[in-house]
Amino acid sequence: MNGINLYIVVPCYNEEAVLPETSRQMLALLSRMKTEGLINGKSRIVFVDDGSKDRTWEIIDSLTHDHDEIAGIKLACNAGHQNALFGGLMTVKDDCDCVVSIDADLQDDINVIPEMVKKFINGCDVVYGVRNKRDADTFFKRTTALAFYKLMRLMGVKMVYNHADYRLMSRRAIQALSQFTERNLFLRGMVPLTGFKSDCVYYNRQERFAGESKYPLKKMLSFAFDGITSFSVSPIRLISVFGGVVCVIAVVMAVYTIYEKLAGNTDAGWASLMMSIWFIGGVQLLSLGLIGEYIGKLYKEAKRRPRYIIEAYINSDNGKEE
Ligand code: UDP
Ligand code: MG
Repeated sequence: MNGINLYIVVPCYNEEAVLPETSRQMLALLSRMKTEGLINGKSRIVFVDDGSKDRTWEIIDSLTHDHDEIAGIKLACNAGHQNALFGGLMTVKDDCDCVVSIDADLQDDINVIPEMVKKFINGCDVVYGVRNKRDADTFFKRTTALAFYKLMRLMGVKMVYNHADYRLMSRRAIQALSQFTERNLFLRGMVPLTGFKSDCVYYNRQERFAGESKYPLKKMLSFAFDGITSFSVSPIRLISVFGGVVCVIAVVMAVYTIYEKLAGNTDAGWASLMMSIWFIGGVQLLSLGLIGEYIGKLYKEAKRRPRYIIEAYINSDNGKEE
């Protein structure tokens, strides 16, 4: 069969208000891409119901009856966006050539999907959807997002700026991702770690088509905190740095204290108290930092991330590239 076998994975949590329109637009796009010969007839749109409390699953169920191109996965309870998306990717990874993941709310422009697929055909394993402008987002969301990306980069996490979870991944990129066995998922940090050739496509972010954001401030903050603590041991290192600084201050204070003592400006007991407070403070922080280093190692071990990812294996026995 001609064309790529494309799967579009869409996590949905209480999305009854947007699903009819989302499925209509995506089906139209799919049939356009089929006509152009870009994708084949086995391509699918997979809606993952993340334990919704509204009619989301009923809608998905009836869509799967009306359209062969639509498939549905129902999670037993709400697992959260990242888990729902990961679950979708893992379920379809052996059935397709590549997967595009996208939110259900039409905030991300689906019309760049053909461009993503073309980049995949030209040899990219990962294609990131990057927001050009964020006019549709509030000032608050824009600035906090910007600060977050800066902070993450500062802590040494490789992340694509202004990219969320709208991306294309090849089958082998998803297979590589399946080797990441960590429980706390932060996909936009994990995907770059697979290391395959990647590229970006740009689009303007729209307003949510209908319904409300499922990421209120509280969830957003905890997501950001998760991202940092799942990827970086820098906060632990900060303790050691801080301990070092306090030790330096302790030395300065010691000199100052001895000077004051010799000059006779001190009451009895002041000098010894002063020196011990700073000294003990510095030693305690350094010790905490040292313990933190070991905890940091444990944290890396506990993740059991793959040590390497094979991109190609050429062997004259089988004579083909993997
Ligand atoms: N979502 C999900 N499980 C959740 C929360 C959200 O599957 O627990 C889905 C939601 O249906 C949507 C996507 O994740 O398709 C992104 O959520 P939303 O658009 O509300 O986030 P925002 O764009 O406001 O950051
Ligand atoms: Mg949204």
